[in-house]
Formats: sequence, structure tokens, C-alpha cells
Amino acid sequence: MVAVIHGFADNILTMISIPTTRLITIGGKGKTRELKIGGNAPVSIQTMWKAPLTPDSLVYISKQMTELAMLGCDVVRFAVPDMESADLLVRLADMTDMPLVADIHFDHRLALRCLDGNVAKIRINPGNIGSKDKVREVVERARDANAAIRIGVNTGSLPADLRGRVEALSPRDEEFETIRAEALVEAAEREVAVFDELGFSSVVVSMKASSVTETVLCNEQFASRFDIPVHLGVTEAGPLIGGIVKSTLAFSRLFAQGIGSTVRVSLSDTVENEVVAARAILSECGQRKGGVTIVSCPRCGRDGFDVHGFVSRWQKELLSLNKAITVAVMGCVVNGPGEGKHADIGITGAGDYILIFRHGEIVRKESIGSDPSATDRVFREELDKV
Ligand code: SF4
Repeated sequence: MVAVIHGFADNILTMISIPTTRLITIGGKGKTRELKIGGNAPVSIQTMWKAPLTPDSLVYISKQMTELAMLGCDVVRFAVPDMESADLLVRLADMTDMPLVADIHFDHRLALRCLDGNVAKIRINPGNIGSKDKVREVVERARDANAAIRIGVNTGSLPADLRGRVEALSPRDEEFETIRAEALVEAAEREVAVFDELGFSSVVVSMKASSVTETVLCNEQFASRFDIPVHLGVTEAGPLIGGIVKSTLAFSRLFAQGIGSTVRVSLSDTVENEVVAARAILSECGQRKGGVTIVSCPRCGRDGFDVHGFVSRWQKELLSLNKAITVAVMGCVVNGPGEGKHADIGITGAGDYILIFRHGEIVRKESIGSDPSATDRVFREELDKV
């Protein structure tokens, strides 16, 4: 594949060849579902659990894994800061079919413990694991366990010499982002060399910055030189809206060039919203087909139906349905059915009644008063027919 991308040195458009990445497989052991990453596999969606693992939370978390899978999540990562967390992650991996990833820093024994069980992938930064022998031990155990390893580098954990190169500049300098992106690629390249030397190829690389420009630059550069699948993410992307904007900009620019095998939308928000946001970005970028598409109006002075309340009550359930349909939620009977003409099912209302329409044609009108549960009952009856 050939793509036009920005070169590092001169920031002018250059033609760089983007190779197709190698295909790696994770999971497939015990209960864990198998997942392909890279090659021609669909771009997968990841999120990261936002609380520590505790013995009492395992049943709850395993149920949440099922719900996240229904929303479109393919992989979930967990922080593993100590041996108790490693033990708990191994137990959790036997309670869910979701491929789980252990996020490990500093102590390679935590990775070894996770690889004793059905943990599908380890995320490490070899630079902070210590000696090459420790990295080798992890690699050998991952090889035996058919597990993959993600090499994660980010702007906050660059090796000292690369950090020095970046810190010699002011963030206001024009070339600051370019130099920092180059440093990310060089840090990743050094880590990749360690795995190459050990003959281990089930590797995914992530290079994360909180700037869209740096995220795009480093991933373009890396993808032009390596056939390793990349995990895309903008780190510390921010709260819901700002984070989605940054992730959308970065991912869409990279997807347009065929770059990106797996993604995480990092948000200061819930895991569900990370997954829903990733799914929406992938869908709008043509990377994921099927499922329910919700279209809803913003409301205005004409509205006679509680669009916002209905969407917040129904979003999770609709997105979990295994139906390739469009659902329209519109605020008024004047414009709603017409504007939602393309929808397989739509709802609107005025006063104490609601209307259900299909492809713009009204199929049901019900007086429900102001009771949202009556609205939900009528909608559910009609949804079941679609
Ligand atoms: S569908 Fe009706 S309520 Fe919603 S934005 Fe359009 S005109 Fe306003």
C-alpha cells in the first residue's frame, strides 16, 4: 500500500509505502475467545478497566465483560501492579470469554504469573522491566502460552537520551511535536529490536502521546517501516467530548492510510463510553459494519418528545442488539418521521401521545400520558417486529 504522509524531517508531503502488517492471534485458550489483530482482520476495540481487581469484584467484572462484548468491545486491559492482582486476573480469565490483557510495569514476575493462566496478552515496556534476561523470560513464557505482547511506549516514559533530546526544546518550538514523535518511534524501534533478537513475533506496538499531531506522525512513520500491528490511542485524551474529538481526528487520519489494527479511546469517563465512542469512530470511518445505528435529533423549540431521556435510557440496549438497523429518535411529529425516513424504526411524539414510524410511515400511535415506561413498552413491542 502506498500512502501520502507527512515526512518527519521537512514536514512536506512524501510518498511512503505502508506495508500490510503481520497477523497475530490472541486468546483461544480455555474459555477465552480467539481474536486476530493485524493483517486483514477488522480493527478491534479495547478498553481498560478503571478500578483495582479485588476478590469480591470478580463476579461483577465478569458480567461487565459480557456487557462490554455486547457493545462491541473485543479486548479489556487490567492494571496488574502486584502479585495479588496477577492472581486475580488469572482467575478472572477463567470466568469470561473476553480476551484479557495484563498491564505490567517494572516487575517481570507479574507477567510470568499472568502467563501461567489464560491471560491473552501482556502489555509491557521492556525499558522498565530491567535486564534482558527478565525480558527473555517473559518472552519464553509468552511463546509457550501462545500469548502476545504489546510494547507500549509513551511520551512520559521515553529513555533518558531521547527525553533529553525532547527536553532541549520548548513545547512552543515549531519542531517540538515532530521531534517528540521521532523519539517515540526510536524508543519503539529499540524495544522491537529486543523482541526480534529473541525471535518473538507476536508483538503489537503502541506509541502514545496526548497530541493528535504527534500520534499521527509517530504511527505514520512506524507503519512505513515495520509490519508490526499498531495499537492506536491518544493518551490522556481528556474528558468525554475533548477526548472523543482528539481520538476521532487521530484515528480517522491514520485509518485513511490503512494504519491501525486495534484502538482504545482513552477518556476520563466510563469504560462503556470508551467502547461506544470507539465503535462510533470505527463505524464512521468504514472500519466496522453492522449493528444498530442510532440517529437522534438535537431537539429545538418544536419538540414534543423527550429525545434525550429516551436515548439515554435506550442507547446501551440498542447498541447491544445483534441487528443491522437504523433507529431514529426525533423530537417532533412535524419533522421527525420525514427526517427519519431512512430509519428502520423511529419514535417521536407530541403532548400525551407517541408515534412509531418505519421508513417515514407511521405504524402506531398511542396515548401514553407522561409515563416513560409506557413509551418504552410500546417501543419495545415495535422493535421486536423489526
Ligand atoms: S426533529 Fe423536530 S424537535 Fe427535533 S430538531 Fe428537528 S424540528 Fe426540532
